[in-house]
Amino acid sequence: YGGLNQKIDYVFKVVLIGDSAVGKSQLLARFARNEFSIDSKATIGVEFQTRTLIIDTKTVKAQIWDTAGQERYRAVTSAYYRGAVGAMLVYDITKRQTFDHVSRWLEELRSHADNNMIIMLIGNKSDLGSLRAVSIEDAKEFAEREGLFFLETSALEALNVEIAFLTILTDIYRVVT
Ligand code: GDP
Ligand code: MG
Repeated sequence: YGGLNQKIDYVFKVVLIGDSAVGKSQLLARFARNEFSIDSKATIGVEFQTRTLIIDTKTVKAQIWDTAGQERYRAVTSAYYRGAVGAMLVYDITKRQTFDHVSRWLEELRSHADNNMIIMLIGNKSDLGSLRAVSIEDAKEFAEREGLFFLETSALEALNVEIAFLTILTDIYRVVT
């Protein structure tokens, strides 16, 4: 975290999307504050959190936006997507329906987004492997077909969360610089 005099070279807006309760807010809490809360309330009001990091000697401020509990189809407004250079499309590996909805989230995202937006598919709750309802192979195949990065994460156990955000931010950096 930078001090008052820190010069910011880039600000990257990244949006979190995906069905309700897949863990978007907890992924953000983990990345921005290294926190997790079991009884996270449904998000109220459009929120973003920032974290400043160094990529390739440059100071990058990641501004990560979290949905305001607008996860119903088409309820996310275009203002949410405006200016975003990256998106994390999250499903819950234990809830098949959240994966089945990924394609329509992608469609919505692409209808709003910049063409060279970097998109990452995230299968969250990897700590719940015994309840798995979406195979890694299915997700990988979908991601490859759509040209997305893919990782499974656990916000609860802090597995792959840092690497997921760093991967998307580094790729955004490559695209914009
Ligand atoms: P959102 O609606 O997508 O923002 O989802 P939340 O972040 O509010 O999480 C919904 C529920 O899933 C909460 O009860 C969280 O505690 C839980 N949750 C989030 N991430 C994980 C995870 O990685 N593993 C497990 N087991 N539960 C999680
Ligand atoms: Mg939320």
